[in-house]
Amino acid sequence: MKFFQPRTLHKRIMLAIALLQLLVVGLFSLYMLIQQVGNEITNRQVLGHKMIAITAPAVTHLIEFDPRGIDAYLGAMLGDRAITAITVKDSEGKLLFQQAKEVNPLHAVAGWFKAAEFKPTVTTELKSARGSLGLITLQLSNDVLNEKTHTLLNDVAYLFMLLLGVDLIAIQLLVKSVMAPLTPLAAMAREVSQGNWDKTMLAAADNASDEVRNLSDAFVESAKTMKRQIRELEETRGQLAENELKLRNLVNNMQEVLLEVDQSGHVTFLNPAWEELTGYATETTLHRPFTEFLAQPKHQSYFEAGRLEHIPLTDLQLEVRARDGKALWMQMSTSLQRDDSGAVTGLISTLEDVTETLHLQELQHQHEQDLYRLTITDPLTGVYNRRHFDDLLENLLHMNLHKNLPLALVIVDIDGFKFINDTYGHPVGDQVLRTVANTLRANEHQGGAVARIAGDEFAVLLQNVNAEEANRIGHMIHADLNRAIVPLTVGQLTIQTSIGIAVAPLHGKTPLDLVRAADVALYHAKQSGRNRVDTLSKERGEAIMDIFSQGFELRNAISAGMILPFMQPIVDLKTRKVFAYEVLTRMRRGDAFVPADDFIPIAEDLGLIRDMDMFVITQSLTLIPKNVHLFVNISLNSFYAPEFTQQLRDLLHSPIAKGRAITLEFTERQTTEMSAEFIQMFNEIRAGGCNVALDDFGVGYSTYSYLRQLRPEFVKIDGSFVLQLKENQEDVKIVEQIRELAHVIGAHTIAEHIEDEETIAMLIKMGVDFGQGYYFGKPVNVQDKHWLTADLV
Ligand code: C2E
Ligand code: MG
Ligand code: MG
Repeated sequence: MKFFQPRTLHKRIMLAIALLQLLVVGLFSLYMLIQQVGNEITNRQVLGHKMIAITAPAVTHLIEFDPRGIDAYLGAMLGDRAITAITVKDSEGKLLFQQAKEVNPLHAVAGWFKAAEFKPTVTTELKSARGSLGLITLQLSNDVLNEKTHTLLNDVAYLFMLLLGVDLIAIQLLVKSVMAPLTPLAAMAREVSQGNWDKTMLAAADNASDEVRNLSDAFVESAKTMKRQIRELEETRGQLAENELKLRNLVNNMQEVLLEVDQSGHVTFLNPAWEELTGYATETTLHRPFTEFLAQPKHQSYFEAGRLEHIPLTDLQLEVRARDGKALWMQMSTSLQRDDSGAVTGLISTLEDVTETLHLQELQHQHEQDLYRLTITDPLTGVYNRRHFDDLLENLLHMNLHKNLPLALVIVDIDGFKFINDTYGHPVGDQVLRTVANTLRANEHQGGAVARIAGDEFAVLLQNVNAEEANRIGHMIHADLNRAIVPLTVGQLTIQTSIGIAVAPLHGKTPLDLVRAADVALYHAKQSGRNRVDTLSKERGEAIMDIFSQGFELRNAISAGMILPFMQPIVDLKTRKVFAYEVLTRMRRGDAFVPADDFIPIAEDLGLIRDMDMFVITQSLTLIPKNVHLFVNISLNSFYAPEFTQQLRDLLHSPIAKGRAITLEFTERQTTEMSAEFIQMFNEIRAGGCNVALDDFGVGYSTYSYLRQLRPEFVKIDGSFVLQLKENQEDVKIVEQIRELAHVIGAHTIAEHIEDEETIAMLIKMGVDFGQGYYFGKPVNVQDKHWLTADLV
């Protein structure tokens, strides 16, 4: 039945139209046939009636006049093709004539139509003047009708064929004209299908209809798009192939292990890095549970079936057991694989060997910890250093005050440490420091800390300890330290300490206030004979507040420029010429000037002395003419801050100090350790071109060793030995000794507090070089124009 399923449009249209045509022409032919056959049937009837109308009078006549002639007449009539039988009956029904021929059957086609009208016989009455003579019946023959029908059928068939033929030719032409433009399209399509894209540029035929043209254009367009897309697709495919190659190379050459595990935890993919790192062949590892290669059960649990979901995607380090038994640490980065419903179907991970890195990290961590320990501890004693103590104090104080808890600070100062160092040497000094540190550490309170905050000073912080408890602990520490023994090559050494205690918030709420309070307590302990513990009492706490308020005044005075240099001449005793001027500080309070003695100790206690000294020396160098030899007092406390030494050195090298004679006076108000660092510092400052004078010589602690170590250019004999020189023989002896001592080291002597002529004479006699005192001139404000005097009588 292929014919009824034509593949081409052309054939389909042809077939459709042909069928339609067949139907139309068929119907038309059928119509024609029906018309013609109907007509013929009618004609036959009419002919029948005509014949009977002609025959009836003749037969009537013969019956009436020549009955024998009937047979001949009707027999001749029967010879007509249209009649097959004739019957004549008289009025009584007696058969007068009957004759019949053989009857041909009716043509089948004729039989289909007008059956009602198709009557094979016609009968009429034989009427004469006498009335009815009987009936004549003619039986009509089918032959004529059959013949006609046959002819008709042939005609209709011819007509049908003709029409069909003409139509088919017309349709063929019509369809061709419609379909013809499609041919190039079909050709295009064929070319396109064979990949000959350039042919797509073909246009539709000129005579093509708009629709076909549009179709052709659209086709060309779509072909172009397709061509572009295919080109892009090919490019993409090329790229993909290239990428795949790259990817494969990458995966194969990756240093990290690429691992794929299915949802049951079995290995489904591994790159060569696995074998390289672990020693297990990839083939033998595949399809085995990954847990077999993990050393730790905790790590194994991540790869158990159904648990993959809980694996940390980053930040997971696994211990993998290598084939040779070595532990490998691998950093794992994972991406979970899921199906459409979101269920985990496996994972893909990279495993980076971080064994070495971890090892290095550990070493580095160790190293950093060591470094950190070094930065926060004192290398000699192992306790915290000053810097870390400052941080600790600040943090603990903040924390304790916030929680409303007390914090005690115990400052332990080794009595006579300098003496120990000087006498027994530094190794013993170090041993003493270590012993103190160990004893303090042994007493370390929970949450507290021990630090070495200065050469011979230690601090202990006690958390949540009130004044009473702190005092008890302080005494305990003191007793322990007293019991401590440092063995010497010959004999042994006991340690004596002075301890100052202050408690926050009672004695201060800031680190500075608390340290100062403890310092003041320590100061009192030392003042009252050393080797004791001193806790600030309530009264002393108030005294400290007093000092602090003075400190406040001092601080303001420094920043407001209310600290002024006063000048007192230093005179050559023999020539009475002014040799130099000593700068003595005064603080302005309203109209009055507060003498240095009233505020310098406080400035030292409160740590303000540094700023003050720097301020005074800078001001003096600025205000006083360059040709004046200046003696400037500097507190040894100022040197505790390394930046002060630097500042002073810079100042002495600055233009305002250049070419000027400067002598720095040092006095020992509190015990100050003359360490090697201190000596070096002095020498550095001296290298800047200034002299050193030891002030107040004869009073204070261990000034002889100062003399030996510092080798000053000037020794100032303390005023207390000069004031009563005339009356006191002892003082004469002391002054003489000091002078001698000074001359031994090549220093000049300056006597302080000369108030009369007699004393001058005595001093000259004793060989003292210079002098100063009210007799020559009281300290005068530098802003007073008349302070500068060339000669004095
Ligand atoms: P100093 O350096 O021994 O100064 C001598 C002190 O004796 C001065 O007291 C001075 O006014 C006083 N004086 C001078 N001549 C006589 C006299 O004939 N009789 C009596 N009775 N006293 C006399 P001042 O000015 O109160 O200074 C006290 C101490 O303060 C000074 O002792 C010095 O060590 C210190 N000082 C003064 N100015 C400064 C300074 O700018 N920085 C530092 N660090 N200390 C200073
Ligand atoms: Mg002085
Ligand atoms: Mg003095």
